Amino acid sequence: MIDLAPLARHLVGTPLANWANSLQARLDGKMAKGHGDLQRWQGALDALPALEASEIDLVHGFTLNNDCDLETRAALREALMGLSPWRKGPFDLFGVHVDTEWRSDWKWSRVAPHLNLTGKRVLDVGCGNGYYQWRMLGAGADSVIGIDPNWLFFCQFQAIQRYLPALRAWHLPFALEDLPANLEGFDTVFSMGVLYHRRSPIDHLMALKDCLVKGGELVLETLVIVGDAQQVLVPEDRYAQMRNVWFLPSVPALELWLRRAGFSDVRCVDVSTTSLDEQRSTDWMRYQSLADFLDPADPSKTLEGLPAPMRAVIVARK
Ligand code: SAH
Repeated sequence: MIDLAPLARHLVGTPLANWANSLQARLDGKMAKGHGDLQRWQGALDALPALEASEIDLVHGFTLNNDCDLETRAALREALMGLSPWRKGPFDLFGVHVDTEWRSDWKWSRVAPHLNLTGKRVLDVGCGNGYYQWRMLGAGADSVIGIDPNWLFFCQFQAIQRYLPALRAWHLPFALEDLPANLEGFDTVFSMGVLYHRRSPIDHLMALKDCLVKGGELVLETLVIVGDAQQVLVPEDRYAQMRNVWFLPSVPALELWLRRAGFSDVRCVDVSTTSLDEQRSTDWMRYQSLADFLDPADPSKTLEGLPAPMRAVIVARK
């Protein structure tokens, strides 16, 4: 069982205290229902060798080190492989390089320079396996709660956390809709790679706002298109082979949505096209990846003939 008492203790005296006290029961309830693969993944977690990091670097990337012997390293690698596919990372764990599908460190290097996370209580909505949570702590955050309904990513987080038990990062297998209304307790809320999966994007922005303290900061990262404030792409069917993509606004349209949702100081700090080096198949994620989702004759288009993935980072204040 995962003990959330340290989280509840940490949040005493904050606007999140009542919610934090309810979390253990909510988590236990979710885990009891669970997922068909949880037991297999638990087996992989149980197989992780005990190791203590003597070197920790969460600032330049994610690296833990000590003088681990070859046999232990092989056992670590095998246990981590049991939690494949690994999408977000990379993680360097005691000489094992978890070469994930995404170079999430590249995204983080586009986002982080625009933020001051020192001492901030952070929520990461759709946190995946929690890669960015560790980088947020590396950037000085006080604590980071990540929520993501995907059970595999939850287990991957537990694997990483095994080696950083004292850090203030928690992963909860919840969707944003599972959070109580008007939490108003986080200084910074991230939503990266989630908005285009939402059928009601403005409601998503409002729900993110509800999680923030007054004056708190939203960091939003999502797929965008080129265009003016009234241009939004709604795919007829799939987008880059993904079935659940709904709204791809232009940057001016997204800024307008944020202002309409009640945010101020809305500014776009980065726009970049996803390269084939940033998202690709690896030993740790053997399924198809971006190269298979683009038109081979014209990589500026997806297989469906739509503009290839371009992503923007927007920051805004409540
Ligand atoms: N933030 C990470 C992962 C993006 S992938 C990154 O930027 O790399 C999108 C993630 O959002 C998935 O892990 C998915 O499980 C999660 N997700 C989807 N719907 C969600 C919801 N309603 N609430 C919270 N997370 C959600």
